[in-house]
Amino acid sequence: MAFRPALRPGAPLLRRDATHLQVGTSPGIVFADRPGLVELLRLLDGARDVERLAAVARATIPELGRPVAEVLAELRSAGVVFDATRWSGARRRGMDAEARHADVVGDDPARLRHRQAYGLSVHADAGSRRLAEIAQAILTDSGVTDLGADEPDLLVVVSCGEPARTVFEQSVRLGLDHLPVVIDEDRVRIGPLVRPGFTPCMSCHDLHRADWDRAWPALVHQLGRQTATMTPPAVGAVTLHAAALEIAVEVLAHAEGRPGRTTGRCLVVGPAHDERAAWPLAFHHACTCDLLRAA
Ligand SMILES: [Zn+2]
Repeated sequence: MAFRPALRPGAPLLRRDATHLQVGTSPGIVFADRPGLVELLRLLDGARDVERLAAVARATIPELGRPVAEVLAELRSAGVVFDATRWSGARRRGMDAEARHADVVGDDPARLRHRQAYGLSVHADAGSRRLAEIAQAILTDSGVTDLGADEPDLLVVVSCGEPARTVFEQSVRLGLDHLPVVIDEDRVRIGPLVRPGFTPCMSCHDLHRADWDRAWPALVHQLGRQTATMTPPAVGAVTLHAAALEIAVEVLAHAEGRPGRTTGRCLVVGPAHDERAAWPLAFHHACTCDLLRAA
């Protein structure tokens, strides 16, 4: 595919002194000026390819002197110029910003196609709808747009207070990966992300809890029933947004097949927006979930 040069994303082109130009200010990349170079750089729009730029330059910038392809290849290796074909095109519609980000930090923008093919389903109760909405908005901006998939790759179950465990039964039976998110008083717990048979599950979670809290099995049976009498939670707006961000990060990791921070772990956001706590969750010896893998 043809190289379509564009200046370094988000970086202004500046004159540093009589003989040098600079792109960007953090700290910026300095390079030697030459006759006609500024005029050439002004032509870069990420739409024209090198051949087209060379034709325009031949007609309008005779003072350039050197082959356009050579000049641009040099600036590309210096990080001044990027190839816009890596960001845009039919297969990356609406994901240009994500693709530019991936390219600039040295990732392959092609990995974003996993997000476009990814199906998500989000279930939220009345008290957690706002958290789910914010997380979904972040995911949409990140290129995950199938948020109501019939056969999702991941089910996110968001609830205000610990949910009834029956909500996970079908996912376990179907082998559907699922991520519980619980608004818990003044904080939000995310995880464990369960890949049935492969990572510790909610039953493992409950069995571990029952090991130190003998009444937990009795409490578990009452979960999800008391929402009518529950006072709404005390999670501040910025903490809610921080939690939504972390949910989105976990979903994106799952979409790309990377282990997230909630695989075999729980991550808690809050009470302050920048507070995080995490703890590992192992398979419980009394849980039979790891037998699923053998079945
Ligand atoms: Zn288990």
